[in-house]
Amino acid sequence: MLRTEFGALLCRGRKKRIVTLILILIFLINAMFYVSFELYNTVMRKNKKLWYNRLKYDKNSYVDESGMRVIVGHYVGGIGGANLSEEIMHTNNYSPVPGAGEGGRPVQLSPRELITARELYTLHSYNILVSDRIAINRSLPDMRSDSCRSVVYDTEELPTASVIIVFHNEAWSTLMRTIMSVLMRSPQLLLKQIILVDDASDRRYLSEELDNAVANLDKVQILRSSNRNGLVGARLMGARVATGDVLVFLDAHCEVTKGWLEPLLDRAGNDDVFICPHIDLLSEDTLAYTKSIDAHWGAFSWRLHFRWLTPSGDVMLKKIRNPSKPYPTPAMAGGLFAVRKSLFWRLGGYDSGMLIWGAENLELSWRAWQCGARVEITPCSRVGHIFRRHSPYKYPGGVSKVLNSNLARAATVWMDEWADFFFKFNPPISAIRDQQNVYDRVELRKNLHCKSFEWYLENVWPQHFFPTTKRWFGRIKNEKGACLGITGGTPGLGAPALGLQCGTDLDLDRLLVYTPEGKIMADEGLCLQQGNGRAVWKSCSDNKKQIWVQDGARLKTISGSCLTLLISEKNSDGIDEALTSKRCVEDDSQIWHFERVPWR
Ligand code: UDP
Ligand code: MN
Repeated sequence: MLRTEFGALLCRGRKKRIVTLILILIFLINAMFYVSFELYNTVMRKNKKLWYNRLKYDKNSYVDESGMRVIVGHYVGGIGGANLSEEIMHTNNYSPVPGAGEGGRPVQLSPRELITARELYTLHSYNILVSDRIAINRSLPDMRSDSCRSVVYDTEELPTASVIIVFHNEAWSTLMRTIMSVLMRSPQLLLKQIILVDDASDRRYLSEELDNAVANLDKVQILRSSNRNGLVGARLMGARVATGDVLVFLDAHCEVTKGWLEPLLDRAGNDDVFICPHIDLLSEDTLAYTKSIDAHWGAFSWRLHFRWLTPSGDVMLKKIRNPSKPYPTPAMAGGLFAVRKSLFWRLGGYDSGMLIWGAENLELSWRAWQCGARVEITPCSRVGHIFRRHSPYKYPGGVSKVLNSNLARAATVWMDEWADFFFKFNPPISAIRDQQNVYDRVELRKNLHCKSFEWYLENVWPQHFFPTTKRWFGRIKNEKGACLGITGGTPGLGAPALGLQCGTDLDLDRLLVYTPEGKIMADEGLCLQQGNGRAVWKSCSDNKKQIWVQDGARLKTISGSCLTLLISEKNSDGIDEALTSKRCVEDDSQIWHFERVPWR
């Protein structure tokens, strides 16, 4: 009896155990399926080609390995392409999808929509389909660093702002998002007004439809220009009617983030500075808000193309010690900055002889520095901007004529001997030099008792890569025939250095600066550096491997090896052959001739 009872009990216990076992088994099988499914998805996602990788990128736009030098390859006009119907061009297709792009997240499209989006790029050079899906009052994260967040501003004491936004044929949603972001994220007390300046847009949705949208917004007004003035003319138009203490200029495709205005006004109040926000990236493809590299400053190449570069060592040090403090920059990007109205006008506003787009940012930066003011970036004001690879709009008179004449004006007025350098190596610009009437601007420079360009290079941008009276300039040619130089088109950071055809005296890509300390500098701030096994072109820095000491006809590294052109049998002149530093021997491949070329 005891036995049977015990047996039944045992039986019941076994059943329970079996049921538990089955349950565990089912759970395990499920978990296995789940894990493999997730794994499969991750792998698929990794392998999936992102649609925007198929877009053709401008060769001049690239990011260095240190993440720097986001270059906007702008000196390229409209992209042409698809013929879009009148209806598409003139209609506002804003239709927000709930949640799309919120928090600055990217918006992805279906493959079918991507095809349409590609065709529509001609309109704005960014993804208009995506922009039209994101609410004009979308949320964005607070992009500031902790140290910036902890700065307290006395709002009562800060000067007031007139925000000036000029536009020509901008998309409705992008323009409205710029305006809304300013309205949502600026303290009432500090925002005096937003002045929109329509630079002769011809898109229908920008007339009455925009008027109506803006009529409901407090503090926003529109000025319309019947002639296409270009961005300088349009900004001047806005500045003339501004009633705030500080002028804050923004492009029409920006989004400001929390706390953006206070640091600008705090610094601009000083009356001696043009202060720029830290410009973050709004992806032209997905409109995702991405932080741009922490430390960057603006400068320019030998051809006067604007470039982002890494700031000098001492600026970096100061930045680390005080991460919320504004720091100086040799030049500004141009679209986004604040300045006390009185200073803006005292220094001559803008050069109103400049057309449509381009070079006004360099002119303004040189004028500011040379005439006793400063140009700075505050890391605490973070504004997103859509960097475009092409200008979507028309350049009446032709893109090169417009850009060249603006560059000619800026160089003539401000660059002294370096203007001769610029014109010498850019004959088409030199040809229109005399057509520029810059009398008023030269007078302005005299009246303001502005300093020389030499002073600017030495004091504001001592790390510059331009020739000077103290630096040798010319061609460095190997005994075998090939020359040192960078290959055109792609400045090729970190690219292996090769022996090249020597070219002519006007061939900037074969001309080099040789500094007293032994750096061999090319355009774009590239220096010859001994890498692992090969000599390469890298961003100029304090790296000792960028020093090449002249010893007779040899170029020696710090460790005493010699720059050598690696000759192969088929290329006896060394063209297209690699370079490296090797043990010094008696050989022509280590003999270098310095052929001086006058630069002014
Ligand atoms: N813009 C203008 N008139 C022009 C050309 C440009 O009002 O003839 C405006 C343009 O709409 C933008 C600002 O000037 O808001 C700066 O131009 P863009 O964004 O093309 O320059 P980028 O930021 O690419 O240097
Ligand atoms: Mn812009």
